[in-house]
Amino acid sequence: MDDALQPVRRIGIMGGTFDPIHIAHLAIAEQVREAFALDLVLFIPAANPPHKQGRKVVPAYHRLMMTQLAVCSNPGFHVSKQELERKGPSYSLLTVRELQERYGANAELYFITGSDTINELHTWYHIDELLASCHFVGTTRPGAPVDKEDLRKRFGQLAEEKIHFLAVPELEISSTDIRERVRDGKSIKYLVPAAVEAYIIKEGLYR
Ligand code: ATP
Ligand code: MG
Repeated sequence: MDDALQPVRRIGIMGGTFDPIHIAHLAIAEQVREAFALDLVLFIPAANPPHKQGRKVVPAYHRLMMTQLAVCSNPGFHVSKQELERKGPSYSLLTVRELQERYGANAELYFITGSDTINELHTWYHIDELLASCHFVGTTRPGAPVDKEDLRKRFGQLAEEKIHFLAVPELEISSTDIRERVRDGKSIKYLVPAAVEAYIIKEGLYR
């Protein structure tokens, strides 16, 4: 179909290492889906996280399984394996380009993040090009206030136009903390979906 005839679709990109996925990931994605009237949200596990080299991440198929278990009850949420199937580092710019091809030039892409990620955007691969291609939504994360003045200094007009903010119910939850809890034999019940907790126990992850 001609691009001009294609309906505008608003698509959320929820990228992460998801090692493991937890309820704050799901909550921010749902809050942004609703507030920005997104048609769907794609959860995209990162293969080879450029920011996390040096730390041992559990194999991609476990992270993919946990992500699938976590999102399956929400009809607006889907999983995309694109970064796992691609060779090389998980640069978001490549992911966004693939999505533009998949959904057409009319699609509007919204990258869903926590505020800690917004503070690190300047370190991302070809960030100016990425900001020109998609929107970012920074949701409030405990302990990570955003310096809007700094964003304006770094990205100028692009920051005004492409970086949005959404206050969400803040959850002081991180994958790091969940991994430590499992390692210490502590409960992670209600911090991750029940199916993800069962999967972690069954597969003996993070011990
Ligand atoms: P880790 O501790 O391993 O870094 P994480 O909990 O930060 O894990 P990531 O997979 O690194 O999870 O994050 C994916 C995205 O989810 C990032 O944009 C991050 O800012 C966001 N995010 C994660 N946890 C929260 C939270 N509690 N509140 C808001 N955003 C969050
Ligand atoms: Mg993180």
